[in-house]
Amino acid sequence: MPDHNQTAPGDLEVVRRFINTWSIPNDTREETDALPQLAGSPELWRTGFPENARARVDTVSRLQRLRTDLRRACRREVSGEDALNEWFSTAELSVKVRSIGDAVKLIVEPSEASFVGYVVAGVANAIASGEWLRLKTCPDCQWAFYDHTRNGTKRWCGMTKGGPEGRACGTIAKVRAYRAREEKKGSTG
Ligand SMILES: [Zn+2]
Repeated sequence: MPDHNQTAPGDLEVVRRFINTWSIPNDTREETDALPQLAGSPELWRTGFPENARARVDTVSRLQRLRTDLRRACRREVSGEDALNEWFSTAELSVKVRSIGDAVKLIVEPSEASFVGYVVAGVANAIASGEWLRLKTCPDCQWAFYDHTRNGTKRWCGMTKGGPEGRACGTIAKVRAYRAREEKKGSTG
């Protein structure tokens, strides 16, 4: 997989796109929240989330709260785990058993059609499959990406600017560390 492939598998991709409705775009470098605008127009919402309609319970403030908590959980903060548990107990979820080939699996599903339910169920299933740990946010630009590396050690959104979403924060961090080392050298001798 190329370095710049950030797409998550299955429903987790919807979760990733949802997390990235808050971002710091490359061009402006200013914190931007696309949610109010997305939620304000059904057409716009459909372009972002074609398979997941927004229900009446999916208010902007509820969505924003969920997104903040998901970002916290992606940064592996303890409070993020508590917040996830809170969503698991308040979102209307149900557990179903499904035979997939020879395997029998438990699948978490939203029991009422809401975007929040869909996202929370997606997170639960990703935790069960182990994929959740590979959904990360860049410590620099905060962009959410899926770590496709074999050992799952990717830290920054990208080392190369692979597309409009790529910012090469890994390379920027390396250059910064190099410059800091050089400056230190310069000041000591
Ligand atoms: Zn980044």
